[in-house]
Amino acid sequence: MYNTKAYSAVSATAPLASDTIARRDLTEHDVQIEILFCGICHSDLHSVRNEWGGTVYPIVPGHEIVGRVTEVGSAVTKYKPGDLAAIGCMVDSDLTCPHCKAGLEQFCQNVILTYNSPDKHLGGVTYGGYSNSIVADERFVLRVPDNLDLAGVAPLVCAGITTYSPLRHWRVTEGKKVGVVGLGGLGHMAVKFAHAFGAHVVVFTTSPDKTEDALRLGADEVVVSRNADEMQKHAGSFNFILDTVSAKHDINAYLNLLCLDGNITLVGAPEKPLDVAAFSLIVARRSLSGSSIGGIAETQEMLDFCGQHNITADVEVIPIQKINEAYDRLLKSDVKYRFVIDMASLKSE
Ligand code: NAP
Ligand code: ZN
Repeated sequence: MYNTKAYSAVSATAPLASDTIARRDLTEHDVQIEILFCGICHSDLHSVRNEWGGTVYPIVPGHEIVGRVTEVGSAVTKYKPGDLAAIGCMVDSDLTCPHCKAGLEQFCQNVILTYNSPDKHLGGVTYGGYSNSIVADERFVLRVPDNLDLAGVAPLVCAGITTYSPLRHWRVTEGKKVGVVGLGGLGHMAVKFAHAFGAHVVVFTTSPDKTEDALRLGADEVVVSRNADEMQKHAGSFNFILDTVSAKHDINAYLNLLCLDGNITLVGAPEKPLDVAAFSLIVARRSLSGSSIGGIAETQEMLDFCGQHNITADVEVIPIQKINEAYDRLLKSDVKYRFVIDMASLKSE
């Protein structure tokens, strides 16, 4: 066991503050990573403030981790010290259930998330990436293309895969009209991917000042969702809509934009339930689904795709001392388009 610096919250109302946490000594399949950058996902905020319930304190959030391998266990084959590596939302699963065998570890009953899951090695719960060092099983560590900006890579392992996976699952390709609701961390990655897959992309935003950015990121059209007339123009026309909104909103307004057999997939996880009108679905055999991150193999596929197509997140890099300010701005939809913590700032505390 060794100690490393971290930022944690001790309650749902406490600000995040400097802390020291323990990490395990390496077992044979483990990789130790010096964390260079960690993205700030809205899920970190939901969890810290216990909006979904079940948060164990102190919590060390962070599941968009990128860094350099510092040490490897005796049986590790994929990594050596000095390699770039990333860790997303999961650090373990049983690897034997049908979901794991199908490469869908995120749906394993025994999945261990990067933070706030039972820690079978040290007891208590797992601690995430708002820290200088982490240890994880190599099977949950990802290879990072070496041609990409590292700060912009960090968000790929949550915001990136969470949008890439449903776009692939619902076969978003050329000729499809695709909506992205909410232009935040997830939303801006969805725009980049849907555009790269050749779809006609329409962004729905509550922030009119994001219009120019949306077009630059790859959108073909932008709709200010508070404008009912603009929304009405698109009625019944979408094949697929990805909803990334983090707060309660009117889902029927978007269901009504789907064509026959169209689908809305929710990746946004608001604290309160959404009201679905039966007729929004019935009248055009529409469907509403959800999606959770993506499996390890698909996450690697996504990172490799990003390497080939030069795709990274648009980031605002902050020192960790600005974390509480960043959370406040996240709540105001004031992020362009992902905060990423430069972990060197934690070393100097
Ligand atoms: P984010 O950066 O805060 O973006 C959310 C965006 O939603 C905002 O930028 C805003 O976009 C829009 N929005 C916020 N409040 C709204 C409201 N009241 N009404 C309408 N639109 C609103 O958050 P994120 O990190 O992308 O995460 C988004 C959600 O996905 C969170 O709930 C998060 O927990 C969840 N998530 C799920 C998964 C998964 O596996 N399913 C993975 C990661 C995150 P505009 O300014 O454009 O309106
Ligand atoms: Zn996340």
